[in-house]
Amino acid sequence: MLQISTSYAATSVSCPIYMFHQSGAAAVESVIRANARAGRTAVTVAQLAAMVRGVAPVSSRPPFCLTFDDGYLVQYQQALPVLERYHLSATFFIIGTVWQGDGVHSYMNLDQVADLYRRGHEIGSHTVDHRDLVPLRAKDVNAYWAELVDSKAQLEALIDDEVSTFAYPDGSYNLPIMQDVAGIYDAAVSTATGVLQTTSTEYALRRTRVS
Ligand SMILES: [Zn+2]
Repeated sequence: MLQISTSYAATSVSCPIYMFHQSGAAAVESVIRANARAGRTAVTVAQLAAMVRGVAPVSSRPPFCLTFDDGYLVQYQQALPVLERYHLSATFFIIGTVWQGDGVHSYMNLDQVADLYRRGHEIGSHTVDHRDLVPLRAKDVNAYWAELVDSKAQLEALIDDEVSTFAYPDGSYNLPIMQDVAGIYDAAVSTATGVLQTTSTEYALRRTRVS
């Protein structure tokens, strides 16, 4: 008898997830070209997570992800035009919509973040104000939960769509934090190095730092 299954049962996918902070256009383009030469196709972190969980088929060409942390203005000014030229979708991990910046760097405004989404990019959460979650969970549990929950709500209100992925500020997390994040998001990226993404690392996906 023919068995029809809706599960693709991937459980592990080899996928470099490149991490950018303040790279210019040339650095972004060089990563894209190297992966295109290797026959890879760009997917968002949400799409990768669905492949790892087995709820979506693994792409026919091997995948890679482009991720941009912190919402730096240079990403909008320099990376976005490159992504558009190559018709690729990336994932931008944005700090919540009430955050006022660090007073040092230039960040995207809310219109620019919403524009990324409209142009087909994924918006992920990078907390409300980029605090280190490990000490915060120990000392102020309400503020800690707000970092996970309120950032998601703020960004969802901005783009009018679900925000399903998360990035730990400064790559700082522990097992209880991963479990908390797992109750709210579909996946999370870490700053640990590697390319093998599995169901057991779905809340600490490995990345490759470019900048
Ligand atoms: Zn960050």
